[in-house]
Amino acid sequence: MRTTKGMTMKGRRGIAALLTVALMVAASMAAGGGSFAYGADGSGDMTYVSVGLVYGTSAVERCEIKSDDGFQIVNISDGMEETLPLLGYDRLIVEVTNGIITVSDSDGVTLITDLGDDNVIMNGDYLGDGTLTVSVNNRAYRGGIKFFVRDNGLMNVINYLSLDHYLYGVLQGEMGHQNPEEALKAQAVAARSYAMTNISSHKSEGFSLCTNTHCQMYYGVSYEHPETVAAVDETSELVIWYNGRIVPAYYHKNSGGYTQNSEDVWNSKEGYLRAVKDEYCPEYNWTASFTWDQLAEKVTDIGRIKDAYISGWADNGSVSELTLEGTGGTKTLSKENIRMVLGSSKVKSLRFTLAGGSGGDTSETVAASAVVLNGDGKTEHREDVAILSASGSRTVSSLDGLTVLGSSGPRLLQDTVKQSSAAATGDGITLTGLGYGHSVGMCQDSAILMAQDGWDFEEILHYFYTDIDVDYVSR
Ligand SMILES: [Zn+2]
Repeated sequence: MRTTKGMTMKGRRGIAALLTVALMVAASMAAGGGSFAYGADGSGDMTYVSVGLVYGTSAVERCEIKSDDGFQIVNISDGMEETLPLLGYDRLIVEVTNGIITVSDSDGVTLITDLGDDNVIMNGDYLGDGTLTVSVNNRAYRGGIKFFVRDNGLMNVINYLSLDHYLYGVLQGEMGHQNPEEALKAQAVAARSYAMTNISSHKSEGFSLCTNTHCQMYYGVSYEHPETVAAVDETSELVIWYNGRIVPAYYHKNSGGYTQNSEDVWNSKEGYLRAVKDEYCPEYNWTASFTWDQLAEKVTDIGRIKDAYISGWADNGSVSELTLEGTGGTKTLSKENIRMVLGSSKVKSLRFTLAGGSGGDTSETVAASAVVLNGDGKTEHREDVAILSASGSRTVSSLDGLTVLGSSGPRLLQDTVKQSSAAATGDGITLTGLGYGHSVGMCQDSAILMAQDGWDFEEILHYFYTDIDVDYVSR
């Protein structure tokens, strides 16, 4: 079925090809076509995804594509229909003019007059190990390249490839090949489920998924390793099911000791995204300081900021509300929006205490009526327990691992947190926290330690996702 390699398409044959594609494009225009297609070329029901490599303000007018295996133009509007072999070529130049995408060879001979959105320039051996390189970032990718013309006349450059080939280039960026095999396999299943359920994330830009943490980190072929490729192959087609549907398997680097209920971070409550005590989680500490002026740059509508305090906690002890008081009003940030507004790489998690400000940190009110849960979950009243507040240190014993229940909810305290008051300042606030990421679903740092301790990938997934099944895509 595959066309013989080495044929050339220059001269008259190139013109014939041009006509073929023009007709084919016209015929397929009405068909629409999603970015989620199923192969009809003997490859079975293979799932494909489209990944935005260059888009938005980085969109381009021109892109060169190189391949050692030649190219194959494939129409994706109705399965994977191979329409035009260009196997004798090693370099194609794609340009957009007046909204029309043309493809020419390295001699400047036009091969395709109107590529459109539904035709993909695939590597000549895209079902095997063929790769191609794009000039926009000089990275190598499996599968093929498609383009999307933006309103400003420039093109988004999009990698179109099978789901598992995509995952080959995801795992290293998300977890790293040196980690234990079962952790990598858990990551592969989570990443596959996430990709399959976020196909519409960038629909308006003409692709499914982006290459950074907004979706999943993806670097193409240069990030493939034998270990990560094996983890994808050994879990091929396996995804996470809940209540009869495939669900997005959210994951994060470090939970800080307790994962989050989905509704405590975002808005919707999902039955499989319940908070679990994350016993394996290694400690990850962070601090972030903001002056009043810096806060006023981030929250601009309440005048000069003069105070900030935590005004609400989730059941598992993480912060759910941060209130800022300014000369022109008061503003309360909720849940993950706290991190989005203040900067999620600075405020690394919602599990933090706050020092500075007017003492709005309610540590003192908590201490007044403390009920202490120790590490075994036992409750005891302890009159001698004192808690650090913004105004000073009144520690009596190690609080490591203790959860303190106060009138506004339980709080998990750890030794590292109580050091925060030392950083109190009259010029602003200092946040001292544990964990990195939204803390919903699987904690990657824990998954690695669990795998080292003998857990298999399904056990790890069941630990972090409540009442799920790990099963095949087409079960
Ligand atoms: Zn994205």
